[in-house]
Amino acid sequence: MAESLIKSKIRTIPNWPKKGIMFRDITTLLGDPIGLKLVIDGFTKRYQGRDVSCIVGIESRGFIFGGALAYQLGKGFVPVRKKGKLPAETIEESYNLEYGTATVEIHKDAIKKGDKVIIIDDLIATGGTALAACKLVEKLGGKVIEIAAIVDLPDLGGTKKIKEAGYPVFHLVEFEGE
Ligand code: AMP
Repeated sequence: MAESLIKSKIRTIPNWPKKGIMFRDITTLLGDPIGLKLVIDGFTKRYQGRDVSCIVGIESRGFIFGGALAYQLGKGFVPVRKKGKLPAETIEESYNLEYGTATVEIHKDAIKKGDKVIIIDDLIATGGTALAACKLVEKLGGKVIEIAAIVDLPDLGGTKKIKEAGYPVFHLVEFEGE
């Protein structure tokens, strides 16, 4: 029930940002008070009572509900950002995109050895971004408890790749063959 309601509030833009991509726009979901509540409640229900040290959100959409989830759980929020945005000492991780590479960073002192971390983003496509975030957390001695996203696109194989790498992954809705 919550799943179909969440899905119904996500806007799909065909052929954006380029031909052949079905862009799943979550701004319509988050702009809707019921939609936003369903998202935050869905993640809170999943992680309430779990032994978690902090929430790591991936730029930029992971910041919106990652911050709200951290607040709900009474934990801190840590941003993973595109290269060049974080002001203090960072570590970085590069990964492959369809064309070229991307680099993400985290503050070196944001994760302590032994921290148990939930990584959150809006959507899992190829899984490259989430796996890069996992590497950043692990380089700092943290442990990834789970990767969470609003949307999974199983046709793109990201979730399979993440599971094969040994990380649990959770999503609220999926668009398969659509
Ligand atoms: P990936 O690293 O391939 O899993 O891509 C994940 C990131 O790209 C997410 O942070 C999404 O915001 C964005 N993204 C990739 N494909 C889509 C899509 N079809 N619709 C919306 N966002 C997408």
